[in-house]
Amino acid sequence: MSLTNNRLTAAEYEVNFADVHPPFSNREAALVEANRCLMCYDAPCTKSCPTSIDIPKFIKQITTDNVKGSAHTILQSNIMGAGCARVCPVEKLCEGSCVYNMLHEPPIPIAKLQRYSTAIAMEKQWKLFTRKPANGRRVAVIGAGPAGLSCAHTLAREGVDVTIFEKEAKGGGLMTYGIAAYKVTPEFCQEEVDYITSIGGIEIRYNQELGRDISVTQLKSEYDAVFLGFGVGLARRLDVPGEELDGVVDAISFIYHLRTNELAQTAVGDKVIVIGLGMTAIDAATQAKRLGAKEVTIVYRRTQAEMPCTQVELDLALLDGCKVIWLAAPHEVRGENGKVTGLLCTQMKLGEPDASGRRAPVASGTEFFLEADMIIKAAGQMPFTGLVEGSDLLHLNGKLSVADSATSINGVFAGGDCVNGGREVVDAVQAGKDGAAAILDYLGLPVEIRKGAAISEPVL
Ligand code: SF4
Repeated sequence: MSLTNNRLTAAEYEVNFADVHPPFSNREAALVEANRCLMCYDAPCTKSCPTSIDIPKFIKQITTDNVKGSAHTILQSNIMGAGCARVCPVEKLCEGSCVYNMLHEPPIPIAKLQRYSTAIAMEKQWKLFTRKPANGRRVAVIGAGPAGLSCAHTLAREGVDVTIFEKEAKGGGLMTYGIAAYKVTPEFCQEEVDYITSIGGIEIRYNQELGRDISVTQLKSEYDAVFLGFGVGLARRLDVPGEELDGVVDAISFIYHLRTNELAQTAVGDKVIVIGLGMTAIDAATQAKRLGAKEVTIVYRRTQAEMPCTQVELDLALLDGCKVIWLAAPHEVRGENGKVTGLLCTQMKLGEPDASGRRAPVASGTEFFLEADMIIKAAGQMPFTGLVEGSDLLHLNGKLSVADSATSINGVFAGGDCVNGGREVVDAVQAGKDGAAAILDYLGLPVEIRKGAAISEPVL
C-alpha cells in the first residue's frame, strides 16, 4: 500500500468533483421556488444570517424578474454573497430557520436563489455599487480572504484607498485554498475577487507575508489604519506517538495541495483515516474518497449528538461511502519502515459536560487498531500564533483579542477567523464589515453601516 496519485481517469475526476449543489437549470425553476416564499414579516431566515441579508426582499425581487435589484439586496449585506451561496452551511443558518421546516415541508432553497441572482450579476458584470470620491485616507488590510475583502470593499465604497497584502498568489483566502473543490472552483474564486475589487480603490499585493515581507509597525507608519484578517491556517497537532510518520498529513495541507494542483496530482491512500468531524474533516474525507481511496474511515471522539459538522455534510460523506467510528480517539500512529500502517484508537465514553457545554469524551480503557496507509488530521485549526506572539497585540490562545474590532494597538483592527478561531465564511464577511465601520469611526469619517446591518443605498 502507498499513497498514489493519478488513480482515476480524467472523466472520473470530472464527475467526482462536479458542482455538489448545482444551480437552477433555468429561470422558470428559480421562479417556482421563489414564489413559494411566504415573505414572513419577521423573516427568521434573515435573523439567522450573520450578514443580515434581507432574504424575503431579494426573493420577492426574483419573482418580479428584478434580478439586478435582487443581487443588490444580497451583495449590499454580503459582498461575498455569490461564494456564500455555494459554501454556507445553510441548513444551520437561513434555510434551517425557514418556517417551512415547521410545516414539515422543504425549506425555500435560499442559497440556490442567492446563487441565481449573484451568478447573473457577476456574469453581466453589473456595477451595483458606486465609490465615493477618494478622501485621501489609506488603509492596509492583511489577507485577501473573506474578512479582508469585505472590509476593503466597504472602505473603498466610502472613498478610502485600500491596499491588501496577501501571502498567497491568489485572493479569496479559505474560499480559494481551504474548501472542497466540488463546492467552489479556483476560477469562480478568482472571478469573485475580481468582481469585488472592480469597485476601484483596492489594490491587492500578492506574495506579501506578514512577519516576512511586511510588519504591523511598518504598515501602521505608512497607512492611516490597519485591518488584520489573516485567518487561521495551522492544523492542531494530535500529540500522539507516530504523528511524524510518512503518510500522516493534516487536512489543511491536503486540501491546499488539492486546490493548487491538478486533481490527479494529489496523492491519496487506499485506506484513509480522517481524525475529526468538523467541516474541514468532511471536506478532506469526501475528497479523499473522490480522489480514489478505497476506504475512508472518520474517527470521532464523541457521538453524533455532539458532532461539529451539520447533518447535511455528514450525509454527503456517508453517501460517498465514508464510514464513521463514533467514540474513538487516536492513541498512537503505528508504522513500518517509516510509513504509516494504522492507528491505535482508544474507545471513549461520554462524561460530564466540558467548557464547550458538550459532554466530554473519557477513555474507557479499551483499545482497537485500524489499518491505514494514510491518516488525515482534522482535529481543529489554530491561528498563526507566530504573527501575534512577541508583538504588542493582545491575544488569547493565539486568537487576537478585540473590542468592537479594535485590537490593543491604536489604529490596528482585526476580524474573522484570526479573532474567532475559525467560523464560517459568512461570519468573516460580517467581521470585515464591522472592522470597516470601526475604522471609519476611527478615521472620523461618516459611518453609514452599523454592526450586523446592511449598508443603505437606493433600491434598484
Ligand atoms: Fe421565505 Fe422561509 Fe424566509 Fe419565510 S422563513 S421569508 S418562507 S425564506
